[in-house]
Amino acid sequence: MNPIISFSPPDISEDDIQAVVQVLRSGWITSGPVAKEFELELSKYVNAGHALVLNSATAGLELVLRLLDIGPGDEVITTPYTFAATANVVLHTGAKVVFADVVPGGFHIDPKAVEKKITSRTKAVIGVDYAGFTFDAKAVLEVLESKKKSYRPRKGTLQCFFDRPVLMDDAAHSLGAVYRNQKVGSHVDFSVFSFHAVKNLTTAEGGAITWNDIPGIEPEELVRRLRLLSLHGQSKDAFSKNQKGGWRYSIEVPGYKYNMTDMAAALGLSQLKRYPETLEKRKSLFQIYQNSLGQDERLMIPDFDAEDAESSYHLYTLRLAKPDEPERDRLIERMAEAGITCNVHYIPVNMHPAYRKLGYCPEQTPNAFSLYQSEISLPLYTRLSEENTKWVASELLRLLD
Ligand SMILES: *Cc1c(COP(=O)(O)O)cnc(C)c1O
Repeated sequence: MNPIISFSPPDISEDDIQAVVQVLRSGWITSGPVAKEFELELSKYVNAGHALVLNSATAGLELVLRLLDIGPGDEVITTPYTFAATANVVLHTGAKVVFADVVPGGFHIDPKAVEKKITSRTKAVIGVDYAGFTFDAKAVLEVLESKKKSYRPRKGTLQCFFDRPVLMDDAAHSLGAVYRNQKVGSHVDFSVFSFHAVKNLTTAEGGAITWNDIPGIEPEELVRRLRLLSLHGQSKDAFSKNQKGGWRYSIEVPGYKYNMTDMAAALGLSQLKRYPETLEKRKSLFQIYQNSLGQDERLMIPDFDAEDAESSYHLYTLRLAKPDEPERDRLIERMAEAGITCNVHYIPVNMHPAYRKLGYCPEQTPNAFSLYQSEISLPLYTRLSEENTKWVASELLRLLD
C-alpha cells in the first residue's frame, strides 16, 4: 500500500498539548502573561527590539499600515506573487495597491520594477520572503533611498519620521531565515510573521510584528500605539482590567481586535522551543528533493544559494522548465491520484476576480504570470519521513512522462 501524503499538516507534540491545557486550566485564557512571554521569546529569537503578537499576519500587515496612517490617496507597492493577504490589507486601508513584477526567472519582487512604480504617493513597499527565502531588501532600500526626493509624508503622521517610503517584510514564510547574515525580523522597518496552521510554526491562527527602534520615535510609544491599535484602543487590556480595582479604562483610538490569546501563545511558545530542530528537518527533506529532482531537464529546482543567506525551507517550489499550465495541472492531478497532495504558490493576486474587477490583470506582470504557469509545490513538513520524501520525488518523475 502506498502512503497518503497530505500537503502540510501541523506538527503538534505532546508538550504543545500540555502547554495549551495548562492555560485552559489556569483561569485566564485570552491575552495575558503567556502572550507577553511569547513576545519576549520571539523578539529574542529573531534579534528584534520588539514583538507584538496578534491573531494573524494579515492583522499585523494592516496594523503597520494603520500605524503609519496610510490610506486613501496613498500607494503601496508589492509583488503579485504572494497570498492575497499582502495586497488585501492595502485595499482595506483605502490606499492603492501597485504591483511590481518579480525578477525575471526568480520568485521575488524586482527592485528595478519597484523603482519604476515609485511616485510621490508611494508610502510603503511590502516585499515577500517567498517560500522562506528572503527578497533583496538591501536593493529595494537602495531604490527607496535614491528616490527619496519624491517622498511626501502626510503631516502629523508617523510617516514623517521616515525620509523615504517604509519598507515592510511579509515574513509569513520566513521565521528563522537569514538575510545577509542577519535573522529575518529586524533588517527592514517592520517584519510580519504568520503562525497560521500551515506555516512552519503554528498557533492555529496567529501572527506577529517585529521591529527595531525607529529614530525619533520613543520606543515605548511605538509599542503602546501598536498595542492600542490591536485591541480597540483600550488604555488597558482585559488582563489589567481584571485585576483588583482595575476596572476603569478609556478608548483612546477606535482600534481593531487583533490580539492573540494565551491559548494560542502557549502553543507558539512550545513550538518555538523546538524550532531549530524544525528548521533542520525541513532543510534535510528539501535537500532530498533537490538531489532527487535536480538532474531532470524538464524540471527547474528552486535555486537560492547564497553564502550569507539561509531559507526557512517553508515550501518546496519546483517548476516545469517550460511554463505549461495544462501540463502542470495534469501533473498535480496525477499526483493526487497517486495519493500525494501538491499545490501552486501562487495564483498571482492580479489574476483573481476581485482584482480583475479593479482593473488589474496578470499580463501586467508577465514574470509572475509565467511562474504561475510552471510552479508546483511538493509536500514539505516535519513529520514527512525521508523515505516518503524520496517516494514523492520518484512518483513525480514517473508521472511526468
Ligand atoms: C499565510 C500568508 C499570509 C497571511 O497569514 P495569516 O496569518 O493567515 O494572516 C500572508 N502572506 C503570505 C505570503 C502568506 O503565505
